[in-house]
Amino acid sequence: MSAKKIHTLLIKESALITGDGKTFLDKVNIVICGNKITYIGQEKPAGAAFTHILDGKDKLVLPGIINIHAHGIIPGAPLFSSASASLPGNQSEKNLITHISQGTTTILSLDGFARPGLVSQAKNICPVNIKTATTHHPKAYLAAKKIDASGLRDQREETVEEIIEHFSDIVIAIGEGGSGATLGGGVQDYKFIPEMVKREAGVIIDEYQARRLKEAVLGKRIASDFYDPERVGNVLKEIGLGNCPTEWALDKISETVLPSFGIALEALEEGANLAKKYKLPFIVHTAVPSMTKIEEISWLGNLLIAGHCNHPSFEIKEGIELIKRLRKKGAIIDISTFDTLDSPEREKEINFFFAILEAGLADVISTDYGGGNHSPILKVLELAIDQKVVTLPEAISLVTRNPSRAIPRLAPGRGAIVRGAIADVVMVRRSKISQVEEIIIEGIPALFGQT
Ligand SMILES: [Zn+2]
Repeated sequence: MSAKKIHTLLIKESALITGDGKTFLDKVNIVICGNKITYIGQEKPAGAAFTHILDGKDKLVLPGIINIHAHGIIPGAPLFSSASASLPGNQSEKNLITHISQGTTTILSLDGFARPGLVSQAKNICPVNIKTATTHHPKAYLAAKKIDASGLRDQREETVEEIIEHFSDIVIAIGEGGSGATLGGGVQDYKFIPEMVKREAGVIIDEYQARRLKEAVLGKRIASDFYDPERVGNVLKEIGLGNCPTEWALDKISETVLPSFGIALEALEEGANLAKKYKLPFIVHTAVPSMTKIEEISWLGNLLIAGHCNHPSFEIKEGIELIKRLRKKGAIIDISTFDTLDSPEREKEINFFFAILEAGLADVISTDYGGGNHSPILKVLELAIDQKVVTLPEAISLVTRNPSRAIPRLAPGRGAIVRGAIADVVMVRRSKISQVEEIIIEGIPALFGQT
């Protein structure tokens, strides 16, 4: 991925979405000088011989996507609120490059135990604008240790105050407050529960089977008094664990899920107080098990970013009602693509996502992790636009202008194609926005550029 500094670049006669939620222009010329956009207009730009000319025919220019919720993109950093061991091999590099190849030019890592130095180093992989949130606070450490914390081995425990005060250029939010790992959610389903079942019963189950077993034992709200032997027995049979006693399932699932759960809820409270103290946005894991606590901390107003409000643990109606209550308190509503397009529950997940969009209840769209297989943002938006759930300019503002406003220090000067903005630009095929054809970060073609 070599990239040569470009001095002047002309995008010639392209269609353009500026990112403001309404403007669509056709046949415009866009000039980039150094790392800034210096001209947008239908006139032929004056004078200068351009170092580069990109033909805009059949293309659509968008601001680079700003993704405020990603995991597994910082090589060597612990994962999730469980501070699990970092991804093996070069998987984090690959994940980061995948995001960029899908049109993301600014990305916020929500693996809150990452050290700021590692986050800065990730910039060496490719020239993306990358920042991190932090969860280096005592109760978050404790919740991580109850479930895993293998990614913190041999690390000095830094305090959140140190991290926020010394690395203010790169640490710009608190989060992820809780996650599927400590709050009995998705990471339990695709990691901890299958690992436990393999270890204890010698049987391999997938994430959907794990979720069914977990919900049979503890219910969606993760409650230890939910247990019903008949229901658990039926699910054990259906997922090939018919030989295991129901009490075994109760004990083992409880041991796997519950130790971190109560402390993770307390960590949400602690995170909210930090957010208030430092006036930093707090991005939280919104799901059925955490919803009551999240409503309790909604006094944070627009410092509260309710992450992935379309979480699959919600029934659609329940989720939408929660979103409305949170919005009334001023919270920012984020929805995530997860692995929606490839999920066995695709239909429900798409309906949920689109219902929120259509009602105008989403402020921001992100990916989250999706077990490492997140659905590309532009692919999900393409489907939503095709089905007239949202207009193209509205859809793009949810991943450009809105996230830049929600987290002011994440992407200043970015998130719009206007004169003077930093030149983070994505060119997609006009008839198929999920087809990314060119990515320019700070004026430099990042992946596919002809240098
Ligand atoms: Zn997350």
